[in-house]
Amino acid sequence: MIGAGPAGLIAADRLARLGAKVTVYEHKPSPARKLLMAGRGGLNITHSENLDKFIARYGAATARLEPYLRDFPPEALRAFCAELGEDTFVGSSGRVFPKSFKASPLLRALLARLAANGVTIATRHRFEGFADDGALRLTGAGGETLIRAGAVVLALGGASWPRLGSDGAWSGVLSASGVAVTPLAPANCGVAIDWPESFRASFEGAPLKTIALRHGDARIAGDIVVTRGGLEGGPVYALSSALRRAVERDGAATMQVDLRPSLSIEALAAKLARSRGKQSVANFLRKAAGLAKLEVALLRVAAPTPPEDAHALAALVKNLPLTIIATAGLERAISTSGGVAFDELDEDLMLKRLPGVYVAGEMLDFDAPTGGYLLQAAFSTGMAAARGVARRLAVEEGERSSERSSRT
Ligand SMILES: Cc1cc2nc3c(=O)[nH]c(=O)nc-3n(C[C@H](O)[C@H](O)[C@H](O)COP(=O)(O)OP(=O)(O)OC[C@H]3O[C@@H](n4cnc5c(N)ncnc54)[C@H](O)[C@@H]3O)c2cc1C
Repeated sequence: MIGAGPAGLIAADRLARLGAKVTVYEHKPSPARKLLMAGRGGLNITHSENLDKFIARYGAATARLEPYLRDFPPEALRAFCAELGEDTFVGSSGRVFPKSFKASPLLRALLARLAANGVTIATRHRFEGFADDGALRLTGAGGETLIRAGAVVLALGGASWPRLGSDGAWSGVLSASGVAVTPLAPANCGVAIDWPESFRASFEGAPLKTIALRHGDARIAGDIVVTRGGLEGGPVYALSSALRRAVERDGAATMQVDLRPSLSIEALAAKLARSRGKQSVANFLRKAAGLAKLEVALLRVAAPTPPEDAHALAALVKNLPLTIIATAGLERAISTSGGVAFDELDEDLMLKRLPGVYVAGEMLDFDAPTGGYLLQAAFSTGMAAARGVARRLAVEEGERSSERSSRT
C-alpha cells in the first residue's frame, strides 16, 4: 500500500482483516494529514441523501464509480465509523459528521486496529516509481529501497494542499509508464476578488448567510465567507470549476450574488418602494430589505452608486455582479479534478498496463462537490481496490498450491 490517507488506510484495514501481510508506505512523518485537516471543518465524511441521488453527484465519473459506491455505500461507511467507536450524525443539511466533529478519534482508532492486525506503517518512505522488473522504488533516510510485493495499491491522493502530502508527482511516473492521466487541476476552490481595501479591512472572515450564487445557468444557495482575497464556501466551491474555465478563457469572470434568495424581485421591489426620506441608503436598505452591514457594503462594491428606482435596486440586490479575477490554485483547493483515466483500469481498479498495481482515492479521474462525496469516494474505492488485491492474491495462492500438489 502506498499513501496513508483515507483510501490507503481503509484498503490496508480490509486486507489485513482478510489475513494479508500489509505494509503502508507514506512519505510524510505521520499518516493522513489531509484527513486531519478536513477534521478541522468537522469532517463531513459522507451524505445521507438517497443513494441514487448521491451517486449522481460524480458527474462524468458517475457510471464508473457507481459499482464501488453501491458496494460500500454511505451506510457502510457510517457502520465502519461506528465499529471504530465513532458514531456519526446527520446535520441539518443532510451531511454526515462524526459525533466528535473531528477526524483524530476515528484516525486513532483505525491506526490502532491496523497495528493490532499486524499492519506496518512505514512513514518517511517516498514512492518514486517502478524499477525495470516492476519493483517499487522507495526513497527514505537510508537511500533507495526496492520492494517486491504480491500487489500494490497506489493511494497517493490528488495534488491539492501539497504541503499535507499529496503533491501529484505520481502523475509523471504513471504517464511515463504509458498510463493516461487527465491533467490535475484545482477543484472546489475559493475565488479571488480585488476587494477595495476598506471592505477587506472591515469584513475579512465575515459570513454571508443564506445567499445564492449564480454563474451561467448554475445557481447554488448556501453560506459563504469573505476572505482576504475573495470568497470561500460551499456555493463558491460548487461554481469554481466553471469559473476557472471562464477566467482561463476570458481573463476574468462574473458571478452574481442573490442576497435575498427567498424573495422575488417584485416582492423585494415592493419593500423598497416606500419613501427613503432622510435616511442614508445604507440605513434604508437595512430597514426596508433587512440587509446586514456586510451585505450593504458588498452592494456598494458592486455598484458604488446604487439605483434610486425600487425595481432596479431590487434587481441589483438579487443579482449583484462580482468580478472574479482568479480561482485559487492547487495549494488551497479542497480537491483535484483529473487523475488516472478509468479506461486504464479493470473493474477491480487494477491498471491494465501494470498488472498487480491498483489505484484508489483521489488519484482517480473524478470530480465531486463538497458535502462528503470526496471522502466517500476515497473510502469506497479503497475498499474496492483491496477486494481486487485479495482476489489476485487468492488466485496466485491457489495457483501455487495446485503447482505444489501437481509436483507431489
Ligand atoms: C482543507 C480540506 C478540507 C476537506 N474537507 C473535506 C470534507 O469535509 N469532506 C470530504 O469529503 N472531503 C474533504 N476534503 C477532501 C478529502 O480530504 C480528500 O478527498 C481525501 O483525503 C482523499 O483521500 P485519499 O486517500 O485519496 O488521498 P490523501 O488524503 O491525499 O492521502 C494520500 C496520502 O499519500 C501520501 N503520498 C502522496 N505522494 C506520496 C509518495 N510519492 N510517496 C509516499 N506517500 C505519498 C500523502 O502524504 C498522503 O498521506 C478536504 C480537503 C481539504 C484540503
